[in-house]
Amino acid sequence: MEKKTIVLASNNAHKIKEYREMLEPLGYKVTSPKELGVVSEPIENGETYHDNAYIKAKSLCELTGLATISDDSGFEVEGLNGFPGLKSSRFADSNGNDYEASGRKLNEMLGDNENRNADFHCTICLLENSTAKPLYFDGKTYGKLLKVSQGNGGFGYDPYFYSDELNKPMGLASEEEKNSVSHRSKALAKLIAYLEAK
Ligand code: IMP
Repeated sequence: MEKKTIVLASNNAHKIKEYREMLEPLGYKVTSPKELGVVSEPIENGETYHDNAYIKAKSLCELTGLATISDDSGFEVEGLNGFPGLKSSRFADSNGNDYEASGRKLNEMLGDNENRNADFHCTICLLENSTAKPLYFDGKTYGKLLKVSQGNGGFGYDPYFYSDELNKPMGLASEEEKNSVSHRSKALAKLIAYLEAK
């Protein structure tokens, strides 16, 4: 793809920073709906991460006409059949966006089940224009649901996640350590490989 502006379908400052740090050194300019003065708040009622990422990218791409990326992510506990998954943010929001309470709740739900395997999943959708075929890039990072939260690094469910790839709780990892294994950085690396091969 020609090096040009890519709109990120998010106004989350943390995500915008992460995408900028990885894409701008390669010559892409990353901008956001807020910076472009557009509002896109589609209902994310898909049944998969791909569906929801597509819904977000499509809605914004139709408003701007620019190449758009969106992402959809979630935390999955194997012993709970992948729950909360797509419901990760709603599950936390029902507790007032309180991830400490959400982590405790997941542990209660798991009860005596010893399968504490967990992962974070990220899907990035790229729409090069509003009629283009959507392209998807997925990443996962693996570990365990912790019984008790540790540290306060990262965000969301990170303090309840023990990273098998870092061999330490994600809440105690530095930003660089998290980025070296995270679901989002793995999906982004695949997107970059695609963009650079064009
Ligand atoms: P969304 O993709 O921004 O809608 O995020 C979905 C949910 O997954 C949110 O509740 C996040 O807290 C959670 N989540 C996504 N990525 C991470 C992460 O890197 N660490 C912790 N929680 C995450």
